[in-house]
Amino acid sequence: CGIVGYLGHREAAPILLEGLRRLEYRGYDSAGISVMDDAATLTTVRRAGKLAELENAIADSMPSGRVGIAHTRWATHGPPTEANAHPHTSRDGDITLIHNGIIENAAVIKKRLVELGYPFRSDTDTEVVVHLIDHLWPEGGALEDAVAAALAQVEGAYGIVAMSSRDPFKLVASRNGSPLLLGIGADGELMAGSDVAAVVGVTRDVVYLDDGDVAVLDRTAYRTFHLERGSVRRKVHQVTWDL
Ligand code: GLU
Repeated sequence: CGIVGYLGHREAAPILLEGLRRLEYRGYDSAGISVMDDAATLTTVRRAGKLAELENAIADSMPSGRVGIAHTRWATHGPPTEANAHPHTSRDGDITLIHNGIIENAAVIKKRLVELGYPFRSDTDTEVVVHLIDHLWPEGGALEDAVAAALAQVEGAYGIVAMSSRDPFKLVASRNGSPLLLGIGADGELMAGSDVAAVVGVTRDVVYLDDGDVAVLDRTAYRTFHLERGSVRRKVHQVTWDL
């Protein structure tokens, strides 16, 4: 339902929570956040129910770090429980992912991954994507290569953002049939969001991704490529209307 990602020089958690609050108007049934600290350790906290539940859970110990992702879920596959809330995490806890939309061939992919020994801990269609990224990660490869390899096998509508301690301090975002944009801030601050509301707390310069686009955000720059057509450039738009 709602996607926010942040990478920059400030603490990510408060910015991500603000983004989620600005997306609340869309409705949701659970919420979660993953933050990567400066040692590339991932901390994920999820709660069923209102955003206030998540905020209370982390109020006394905000996960520290300057890159992270957060999600408000509107359940399509599996009830609105903590286990089904996003972000979903890989077997070794080193990849974390948020997803909007529906993966149509989740059951087929899940069957294969179960045979390969992947442990499924939720009822969501989303979880197949994180295990598939893990499975297809090329030796020594980059997160974006693993995400692209996984998405080549995925059918359905999605907006996703992934982060991994295997290739740290980077966000990889992609969409197909589900809205996703980037926020291009000052001083190297970069965001991803399912809606301009998710990013306007930081910037009004946005890049709308097209279906099939993959965006790679890191501490030096961002770039975009298309899953089938290779490198692409997308225009930066200024959001001028009041929010
Ligand atoms: N299909 C996913 C789920 O049920 C994502 C739902 C959403 O868009 O929030 O968890």
